[in-house]
Amino acid sequence: MNNTNISFNDVPMKEVSYKSSIIREVYFAGNISCMELSKKMNKSLSLTSKFLNEMIEDQIVEENGYALSSGGRRPLMYRLRKDLMYIVSVAMDQLITRIVIMDMHNNFVTPVTKVELPLTNNYVALQTLTEAIVKVIKDSEIDKDRIAGIGIGMPGFVDPKAGHNYTFLGANISKQIKISTGIPVFIENDSSSIALAEYYFGSATDNSMIINFNWGVGLGIIINGELYRGANGFAGEFSHIPMFKNGKLCSCGKIGCLETESSFIYMINTAEERIKEGKQSSMAGRLTADKNYEEKSKLFADAVTNGDSLAIELVSEVGYNIGSGIAILIHLFNPGKIILSGRGALMGNIWLTPMQQALNEMCIPKLARFTEISVSKMGYESELIGAAILVMSNVEEIYQEARQKEKLRKMIGRETKITD
Ligand SMILES: [Zn+2]
Repeated sequence: MNNTNISFNDVPMKEVSYKSSIIREVYFAGNISCMELSKKMNKSLSLTSKFLNEMIEDQIVEENGYALSSGGRRPLMYRLRKDLMYIVSVAMDQLITRIVIMDMHNNFVTPVTKVELPLTNNYVALQTLTEAIVKVIKDSEIDKDRIAGIGIGMPGFVDPKAGHNYTFLGANISKQIKISTGIPVFIENDSSSIALAEYYFGSATDNSMIINFNWGVGLGIIINGELYRGANGFAGEFSHIPMFKNGKLCSCGKIGCLETESSFIYMINTAEERIKEGKQSSMAGRLTADKNYEEKSKLFADAVTNGDSLAIELVSEVGYNIGSGIAILIHLFNPGKIILSGRGALMGNIWLTPMQQALNEMCIPKLARFTEISVSKMGYESELIGAAILVMSNVEEIYQEARQKEKLRKMIGRETKITD
């Protein structure tokens, strides 16, 4: 066998299962010793070592030097070969969709393709999305057999198991894109996907809340090292906690939600209003109607970086509002960490002071003291990395399916394309 495709067609099923589990563990660890791996797999050191050696021969895993010294003999470390297989990562928000192909070390191997894809009342959204994914795969010239899966983070009420989104895009999303591409598809709510990225490759710990500051304010919740979804998978609608008596209609249909005065759209719209009212700003005359929200959000973030007083005033107001929401989270969940991630992370640590001010005013100090508030270092790329995690979490299933297809192909004795 070689690394030109992802099938284990001549390997017994039990071994496929074990080796694909090793692939998953090594991916998430990044770099791991045989001892650590055998503990994670709950298998003997000799069996783990045997499989690791076979996987090195098969060019799946490679040696990666010795661990840093901790006093004793330094163990040899292993990692996946970065070109073992590839992942199509898709990060959607309500207006913009980003697509990139990643390798096994979470490197981007293609440029990030941005597609303007508004989701509200868009009945061809799924078709547009599918076409964009197909084009990125075709343009990459990567053999489709070497793409393990397509991971998609998307806003809305998402049922990852069934592959449905009850808010946007509709039912059977995973199935439909799989039919069009021939590649397994895994979907998840965007904020949950970001939370997974922060948990596995960022700074989130076993009890963390990850705020996805974007056009709205999403929340991914990690409790005891697991993503918390709630009874029906709809947990984390931070944007829609009733926060203000402002009479403003929210996108959800209710009045006074956190989102009505705490989102990127709110900051951009309010900047435009205040400029019209006579406020001085470097953004004056530049937030024009011909620009989309993506372009305006960049302009706004640049204004913050350059110290524009109106932009900073708005970040302070919105940061304070989010801090008020965080005070509620701290009182309810006692999280170890709260991380501001998503598009808002582009603006960096400027969020921390107003959020802290709200906590000083609203949070019981004894509780607040135990929660560390930070802005994500992974930033805006976290949703793309989260989408890759969706695929690699299901790598055993992907290998089983690839192997079954090979087997079926042999049984029917011809090289026809097997559809689902
Ligand atoms: Zn709302």
